[in-house]
Amino acid sequence: MASNGSSRPRRRGSVFGGRDIAVDLGTANTIVFVRGRGIVLNEPSVVAVDSMTGNSLAVGLEAKRMIGRTPGNITAISPLKDGVIADFDICEKMLRHFINEVSQTRWPKPRMVICVPSGITGVEQRAVQEAAEYAGARRAYIIEEPMAAAIGAGLPVQSAQGSMIVDIGGGTTEVAVISLGGIVTARSARIGGNMIDASISAHVKKEHGLVVGERTAEEIKLALGSAWPLQQEIYAEVRGRDMVSGLPESVSVDSQEIREAIAGPVSAIVDSVKATLDDTAPELAADVMDYGITLAGGGAMLRGLPDRLRSETGVAVHIAEDPLFAVVRGSGQTLEEFDVLHGVLYSSTEGR
Ligand code: ADP
Ligand code: MG
Repeated sequence: MASNGSSRPRRRGSVFGGRDIAVDLGTANTIVFVRGRGIVLNEPSVVAVDSMTGNSLAVGLEAKRMIGRTPGNITAISPLKDGVIADFDICEKMLRHFINEVSQTRWPKPRMVICVPSGITGVEQRAVQEAAEYAGARRAYIIEEPMAAAIGAGLPVQSAQGSMIVDIGGGTTEVAVISLGGIVTARSARIGGNMIDASISAHVKKEHGLVVGERTAEEIKLALGSAWPLQQEIYAEVRGRDMVSGLPESVSVDSQEIREAIAGPVSAIVDSVKATLDDTAPELAADVMDYGITLAGGGAMLRGLPDRLRSETGVAVHIAEDPLFAVVRGSGQTLEEFDVLHGVLYSSTEGR
């Protein structure tokens, strides 16, 4: 269906026959790990659809490039936008497309672990498993996002010690305290990178009369976004369309105004962490105090977020190594250590 971008570690002609695979079906990015090979695919969770015919035209990177550039009859759909499956048919097509991209043979069939946002319903989980089986899985397992992130971040999920993980993705922020292989306290909020981007577009429009698309708003976030004052505030030129004249225009925007513009969603993320700490039993909360909070997901890389969380909770904050890959690494680890970790998976045929 889609051709491929060059920026991801794809290995052409890879054969996963018998090699188990793990998929992080994220609201912003889908990442595929093949056991014995590592991460083989990392693409935006986006599908471009022809709204006249309903046909999907491109998936992933190629579809994301079309955002804001497409003619009227092509729409770019993020099927998991807010951590729920907005369009199941499209989601299934996207999952099958990515799995087919990394597979060359369907024999012997692999086991698959798929990590889904915890907001999706049981029926949707079952449907994701079916899609995976249809795409060639011998057996498909579902893993909850905070559990996968915690394993990928190297937290001792099986021990009695309480560990807190905060996974900040495009559509959702998931906060959980894990102990003895299970999620003890959890909270999933529909706040994430997308909402931060939307606050940036709204600010640039209101204060500078400049209209910018989603992609530009995200670029501004990466260049200037922060959750805590920077040692040296920075600025950037931003290009967009002048609201009044309709012509291309560029304005100078600085990190301090962007920090204020995104204060709403950033505070909501912080509040979600504080509320989860409040809900946590005293012994486990004491462990979190001792060992700190671990951040994963792309949102973990927002400048100054650890400082902000530390100042508001009084707890030390760490960022997982390669936070964008924590979930897929954790999901993959359940395959590598299946005997030890299978208890955290939901199987397609037996429930837990
Ligand atoms: P998901 O699991 O929902 O697919 P990811 O964990 O892949 O999400 O994170 C994607 C989000 O992280 C996007 O909103 C992206 O803009 C954001 N992001 C990526 N890098 C950074 C960064 N350096 N600073 C702030 N946000 C970032
Ligand atoms: Mg994620």
